[in-house]
Amino acid sequence: MADKKLRSWRMVEPGKPLELQESALPVPGPGEILLEVAACGLCHTDFGFLYGGVRPNAPLPLTLGHEIVGRSVAAGPDLESALGTSFLVPAVLPCGSCELCRGGRGNVCRRQKMPGNDLDGGFASHFLGPAEFLCPVPNGGVRLEHLSVAADAVGTAYQSVLRSGAGNGDLAIVVGAGGVGTFAAQTARVLGASVIAIDIDSARLEALSSHVDLALDAANMTAKEIRTAVREFERAEDTRAHSRKIFECSGTAAGQQTAWSLLTHNATLAIVGFTMDKADLRLSNLMAFDATAFGNWGCLPEHFPTILKLIAAGDLEIEPFVECHPMSRLNDLIAEEQHHRRPILIPDF
Ligand SMILES: [Zn+2]
Ligand SMILES: [Zn+2]
Repeated sequence: MADKKLRSWRMVEPGKPLELQESALPVPGPGEILLEVAACGLCHTDFGFLYGGVRPNAPLPLTLGHEIVGRSVAAGPDLESALGTSFLVPAVLPCGSCELCRGGRGNVCRRQKMPGNDLDGGFASHFLGPAEFLCPVPNGGVRLEHLSVAADAVGTAYQSVLRSGAGNGDLAIVVGAGGVGTFAAQTARVLGASVIAIDIDSARLEALSSHVDLALDAANMTAKEIRTAVREFERAEDTRAHSRKIFECSGTAAGQQTAWSLLTHNATLAIVGFTMDKADLRLSNLMAFDATAFGNWGCLPEHFPTILKLIAAGDLEIEPFVECHPMSRLNDLIAEEQHHRRPILIPDF
């Protein structure tokens, strides 16, 4: 491996395209592992760092990308047995020992490491990181590259649906039917809920149609028409009357407004998407409806074995919602911003 280099697409300055850089291949220290990157998904958060005014935690230059799968090619002195194994890297790697971690909230651990934010990420030939919470990927089944999006898009959706308590007889409403929303809709269904998807993009709704019970094209409906359609569906499907689970996955102020307008008594609202924009909301609706709102950051590493099993069993479908590209196209894909399928970048250095 002596002749191998680390090649990575790095953020050098906000608002500027990523730069291809080359350096010596890092040597893993104790507790660390070096993966040869098989694929890294492109998330809206990467766009936020580069063009959306969001500052990464680590100083620049920084390799972005936090949806990583890869095969271990070098490991710290204590970890040789992991060599040659394929791993999924959870987008949030907690410390495992602080008060938040011990209390089951490791996804918001303040000492967490997020690739492409706290340390160099996956838009590279290799990824060096802590080994402790990596999830081994079983051989066979779904393409390894496709599993990259499980690290964040699927994981984040899974955890938010789990936390909402959605289950048999519930109505789940997913606002924003692309990216993380596609997986929130599928997870809600796997857990037994009926699912309504709302988006302003009819192609996205069409792609998700076999995974939802009703698709509402918000581009052609008023807020009132959307509320009426949801209520009529609730009656017709006989879902539990007062337990709506609403997932805001669009990461837009308009989507947040729509999600908020669907709150009713005892409803639960999960904010899963991110935007720097502000929505105009009457917070007292939470009080009047005795409703619950929560945000979701990443996914606990302990959920990933189950997530990979659901994917392997075909309960969570990835293939129709992703598209593989050579990593050299990364800057073009980031510039396009909107994608109908989540881009997965395959190293082509
Ligand atoms: Zn992400
Ligand atoms: Zn911690």
